[in-house]
Amino acid sequence: MDCIFCLIDRAILVETKLSQAFFDGFPVSPGHSLVIPKRHVPTIWELSAEEYVDLFNLVKEVKELIQDQFEPQGINVGANFGQAAGQTVFHAHIHIIPRYSGDVPDPRGGIRNIIPGKGTY
Ligand code: AMP
Ligand code: ZN
Repeated sequence: MDCIFCLIDRAILVETKLSQAFFDGFPVSPGHSLVIPKRHVPTIWELSAEEYVDLFNLVKEVKELIQDQFEPQGINVGANFGQAAGQTVFHAHIHIIPRYSGDVPDPRGGIRNIIPGKGTY
């Protein structure tokens, strides 16, 4: 299968029976990590209930690991579903993006800022 997340030989941060976490290859901030199901599905919406729970339990574990290791002042967690929403790798994954005070001039709104000019209120 032509999927980098199925194929790449990467350093695994932590894993469970059904899910795996690793550092993003092109991090947008120090500690930027990805949590993926081991089974290839394009989005989390195709996961079984067991896989879904396993994935999100690992998200929490990775969040705690990142908190300890990188000591960020905040964290964004999110996912892109579909090309229109910015998805580039079509193997389900959750981004865990540590945030640091001053990393952008005005962080207010966070993920609301994915649509330029609409995030502030
Ligand atoms: P998305 O745009 O939501 O599909 O996110 C795909 C993510 O995969 C991006 O944050 C990329 O930096 C990351 N990525 C792409 N190729 C690799 C790779 N070979 N190893 C690790 N992360 C990767
Ligand atoms: Zn895959």
